[in-house]
Amino acid sequence: MARIGFVGLGNMGAHMVRNLLKAGHEVSVFDIVPAAIASVTPNGAKAAANAAEAARGAEIVITMLPAGQHVRDAWLGAGGMAAASAPDALLIDCSTIDVATAREVAAKSGRAFVDAPVSGGTMGAEAGTLTFMVGGSPEHFARAEPILKQMGRNVIHCGVAGAGQGVKLCNNMMLAATMIVTSEAFVLAEKLGLSHQALFDVCSTSTSNSWALSSYCPVPGPVPASPANRDYKPGFAAALMAKDLGLAQEAVEQVGTASPIGAHALSLFRQYLERGGGDKDFSGIINMIREGGVK
Ligand code: NAD
Repeated sequence: MARIGFVGLGNMGAHMVRNLLKAGHEVSVFDIVPAAIASVTPNGAKAAANAAEAARGAEIVITMLPAGQHVRDAWLGAGGMAAASAPDALLIDCSTIDVATAREVAAKSGRAFVDAPVSGGTMGAEAGTLTFMVGGSPEHFARAEPILKQMGRNVIHCGVAGAGQGVKLCNNMMLAATMIVTSEAFVLAEKLGLSHQALFDVCSTSTSNSWALSSYCPVPGPVPASPANRDYKPGFAAALMAKDLGLAQEAVEQVGTASPIGAHALSLFRQYLERGGGDKDFSGIINMIREGGVK
């Protein structure tokens, strides 16, 4: 059993905290939204007054925050968690952020640090089946692995600090493009008078199968747990997907490669956000495609 500090109790973090509590750890939690703290205290989490208090005295400190700025501020800002944590504490950032910030926090924290962004969505967070992509030294990875295994199924060492974020951006660029084209296919099938179920039954057992189709189908019916069955309540919000696609394109520019499909996926998600879809699950982009008028 370890003493763990956990900051960021949103769609993902709250489930992850519950799994740590189930595994028998003592977890001190903080979020700027009091209701988020209240969502895990009935499970046994201890409410901290601020992020630094959550970190103080913990052997392991974990963040699950929206973006790079939040992560930098939380760890390195005034009253930051890195300074408040014990000198031998292990710091783990599970948020999806840019590679440069991950490297900066790793370098400036003065502590053992790994970036460990996740894949698997809120369903994976709840079931404890997330995939963790970890960047950091082999020694720091070895310390992080057992704790990450209690929130996930696959824990993969991807390389030095920032490498986890690099893999995550590649993953989400592939996922976004796959979800868009899957949505286009369902809308095309509708116009051709085909049933959703027929398209699903064939494609989920054929060469076009994907996680976007078989686990996260963008139309209601074929996959009862997918957000399409609850009016596209996230899940993984479209605004976060647009963020990740933006980070992927930044990385594309930094290294000077080409990614025309990734760039177009970003453009389509930005259009969806302009039409008010930011708070919907990213699979809700099918509704924009159905409406038409996309560029
Ligand atoms: P979320 O917006 O639901 O949760 C973020 C939480 O952080 C919120 O409760 C917010 O109040 C809190 N927060 C923000 N700033 C804070 C601060 N300074 N101090 C303390 N708390 C603060 O987001 P989420 O869906 O849980 O995602 C978290 C991260 O995980 C993001 O980086 C996202 O890209 C990534 N991610 C999400 C999913 C998913 O399916 N939702 C999947 C993989 C990765």
